[in-house]
Amino acid sequence: MHYKLEKPISGSIGTEKYQCTIEWRNGKFISDEPEKTGGKDLGPDPHTLMLSSLISCTLVTLRMYIDRKGWDIPEIKISANMFQTVEGDKTTTIIDRDICFPGPTPPDPEKKNRLLEIAQHCPISKILEGDIKVRSFVYHEEEVEKQLKYTNDNITVVWKPEICKHSGRCVTQLPQVFDLKSKPWINMQGADTSAIIEQVNKCPTGALSYFHNDQKGSPVTEG
Ligand code: SF4
Repeated sequence: MHYKLEKPISGSIGTEKYQCTIEWRNGKFISDEPEKTGGKDLGPDPHTLMLSSLISCTLVTLRMYIDRKGWDIPEIKISANMFQTVEGDKTTTIIDRDICFPGPTPPDPEKKNRLLEIAQHCPISKILEGDIKVRSFVYHEEEVEKQLKYTNDNITVVWKPEICKHSGRCVTQLPQVFDLKSKPWINMQGADTSAIIEQVNKCPTGALSYFHNDQKGSPVTEG
């Protein structure tokens, strides 16, 4: 198990209705709500973001496939929308995705069918159509900010003790680095950097993270 994103997406909201600042690995953007639900429509709303994710993933997946095949399809367009039906306590969400190839020569039926299949298997489609569980953890900021750092020549591992659930995953899977009986309990010389990064990415709670030493200034070691 490891997280898809090297750096988690984070977001915050103050009292300004309903502007959220979303931070991703390479910058920030604003999301908002439409005016009819009390926002100012200054950025995409959550449903729009979700559908945008599906559209961009489908577009990229199709482009990669088409390029690999060497097919002459210069442009792909996709639009998507969704509706929900409620029966008893069960809500079903239907997402409709329309894919169009506007070039001068439309792909033949066989290619179209293949492209439809590829679209249905893009990574975000698989997520939306697979089993999804949202695990939520609640912390006070002070708890999240309390952290210890461990470093080697390349990276610094950050451990947030207050959110470590001691599920033991790191201890059992990479004991030469993570050993609760030793002090410091994280031995950065116990394995190579790539093995440590791989294990950090498997931490289920986000208690472990890392940064490359040349990206965040001087690393700090446990006192
Ligand atoms: S895997 Fe994460 S939560 Fe589990 S013991 Fe290690 S640091 Fe704590």
